Amino acid sequence: MTEAEQLVEKIKDAEYVLIGIGEEFNENFTQIGLHENLMKLLHKIEENDSLSWIIPFMEKAYIEEQEVNENLQAYQKLYELIKDKNYFIVTTCIDGAIEKAGFDETRIVQPCGGYHYLQCSEKCNTELIKADNYVEIIKEQLEKEGTAERPLCPKCGKPLVFNNVLSEHYVEEGYLPQWEKYTKWLSATLNRKLCILELGVGMDFPSVIRFPFEKVAFFNQKASFYRVNETLYQLNEELADKGVSIHKNAQKFLLEI
Ligand SMILES: [Zn+2]
Repeated sequence: MTEAEQLVEKIKDAEYVLIGIGEEFNENFTQIGLHENLMKLLHKIEENDSLSWIIPFMEKAYIEEQEVNENLQAYQKLYELIKDKNYFIVTTCIDGAIEKAGFDETRIVQPCGGYHYLQCSEKCNTELIKADNYVEIIKEQLEKEGTAERPLCPKCGKPLVFNNVLSEHYVEEGYLPQWEKYTKWLSATLNRKLCILELGVGMDFPSVIRFPFEKVAFFNQKASFYRVNETLYQLNEELADKGVSIHKNAQKFLLEI
């Protein structure tokens, strides 16, 4: 049996499946300049430094208009593997691409935030404002007038920024209710047949997935642990007996299953 076949069996046999998704799945926006609808607008932004705040809004537009790519196909493969299981997904990706694959959103936590909400850049308050309407307004203004009005915090007048880790004063309240759900789910897995699948998780935020997943695997006698990673595939000694390290890019690994 190949490692992939073994994993499929482990998932079938598991009562709980815990998935961690990391850096290998990050959208890096290298194709954004080639996007038909955004190319001209991006050009306008690049000509004028004072408009650079618009770039994240264009990234949001890009994510929403993006067609099926390998990233999404890999997520869909994962979905097919676990859709009937009792699963939970923790992802450090902020692009929200995973939301298009069909997973139950109540079973995903995105602790690094994303592009759905805006927050005060100074965090004068923790209120989150839906970002959806702003993208269209900004695009339209930019198209017609060559500039756009920056959305400001209704309380202090400082700029609004996206509610994710790229924000200097990240408002973590956005993901905390879901995080609570996750920790509750996790506590129920203790000494149950738990399959842990860590996919392309690097060391950007080791305290979110990598370290805690290792700990869960170590303490749960019935856990199995799969680490798939192109560069950081090594397992520590403590997990040597129940862990499997797969030295491969996690997206490619899923696509080949
Ligand atoms: Zn404010």
